[in-house]
Amino acid sequence: MSDDLIYNVTQASYLAAAALFIFSLRWLSRPETARRGVLAGVLGMVAAIIGTLVHRDITHYEWIAVGVVVGAGIGVPLSRVALTAVPQRTALSHAFGGLAAGLVGTAKYALWLADGELTAFRMGAISVEIILGFLTFTGSLMAAGKLQEVLPQRPITYRNQNFINLGLLAVAVGAGLWLVVDPTQWQLFPVIVALSLVFGVLLIIPIGGADMPTVISLLNSYAGLSAVAMGFVLENKVLIIAGALDGSSGFILSVIMCRAMNRSFTNVLFGAFGQVQAAAAAGEQKAVKSANPQDAADLLETASQVVIVPGYGMAVAQAQHRVHELRDQLVKRGIGVKFAIHPVAGRMPGHMNVLLAEAEIPYDELVEMDDINPDFPQTDVVLVVGANDVVNPAARHDKSSPIYGMPILDVDKAKSVIAIKRSMNPGFAGIDNELYTADNTVMVFGDAKAVIGDIVKALSGGSGIH
Ligand code: NAP
Repeated sequence: MSDDLIYNVTQASYLAAAALFIFSLRWLSRPETARRGVLAGVLGMVAAIIGTLVHRDITHYEWIAVGVVVGAGIGVPLSRVALTAVPQRTALSHAFGGLAAGLVGTAKYALWLADGELTAFRMGAISVEIILGFLTFTGSLMAAGKLQEVLPQRPITYRNQNFINLGLLAVAVGAGLWLVVDPTQWQLFPVIVALSLVFGVLLIIPIGGADMPTVISLLNSYAGLSAVAMGFVLENKVLIIAGALDGSSGFILSVIMCRAMNRSFTNVLFGAFGQVQAAAAAGEQKAVKSANPQDAADLLETASQVVIVPGYGMAVAQAQHRVHELRDQLVKRGIGVKFAIHPVAGRMPGHMNVLLAEAEIPYDELVEMDDINPDFPQTDVVLVVGANDVVNPAARHDKSSPIYGMPILDVDKAKSVIAIKRSMNPGFAGIDNELYTADNTVMVFGDAKAVIGDIVKALSGGSGIH
């Protein structure tokens, strides 16, 4: 192939890749088009890889082949993890992305230093790339460790923590600026790398394990920005575009999650959320009305409108298929069934949508929080399946509550509430839930999958006459 042809193939592939990435993000934002979005993203990545592989700068392919084999060896098993482990799997992907950016920056620095080609612009881009890349690497590993519970979940705090952390980052940035002025001061390079690696660890230590999904999407944003810097270093346009999309979408996602929890970025990053609530969780517990699956089935049978509220517990129990069976039993009796979806139910955005879609529950029965809240006063029975914080009325009135101000599903306004969970243990925020002791609530204790299975049995074994 002539040089011109190769150049054109590369540019056309990059253009196609950039367009496909943009369409992918667009389509991924709605359940109906999400599969198409995934396909567009995959095709975009294939186009970008083809464009890169035919690039005239590549003279031999041995190490690329080794990279493909090693990457596939790690990536294929990683893609098979359970849905509940997707947040930590995503964190690991970001760690690899950050490490790759950091290593590419290091290699480019060494090459350009030896050839005397380090301009101020190149050095600036490399400094951004290695600081963000290496801090994303260790930060994401810490986040994955916390989510996998191989590291302590509780925030670890110490005096002057923010001052020390930000001081370390400032020293790294200062050293980077020094290198921009005088790139031959190579001794500063390992200092920046070490400080960035340490900063990544220290950034995550004070954040509670339950806040990791928000932090992960913020780290996603850092990984994107380091890819942008890498794009400038390698003079690769598709890397700049894909990095910018990654960086901004990660940032937007973190903003959406913070809003849905009514928390600020500062509170997520520096608020040590999940620490003080431990004592509250261990406090006195009020009396609750406990029922068995047969009682729950009897109550459900008397309803004409039922709203099912799935939460993290449904994901843990993998109860979504049983929930579908229950829905079928109710619909068969002419009972209206809807699913109330809170934007941060579960542990990642869209968590409930994905599980319910997997169980093939029709999309049109899934109703977003703002649309379903006005319906609760007319709802006969709300069935809460392993949801806790997202239905805690304290968010509306208790100013001392850590979740005060978080928009919630107003299930307590329904005529009756059945709440399924295993114990009186708190959820993510570590606080008690007054819904469970309300007059119109009954608790059915047990694993969500088992309990709903028993309710379905009770319904199908019963008269079936409504
Ligand atoms: P939650 O408040 O964490 O409560 C989940 C409940 O499920 C627990 O109280 C637990 O009680 C129960 N549970 C666990 N395993 C169960 C099982 N096998 N069967 C039945 N119940 C089980 O969950 P949520 O109401 O979905 O709220 C999500 C929380 O995560 C919010 O506070 C949100 O701010 C936070 N968060 C979400 C995201 C996101 O993107 N979705 C991101 C960051 C933070 P037992 O132990 O007693 O069973």
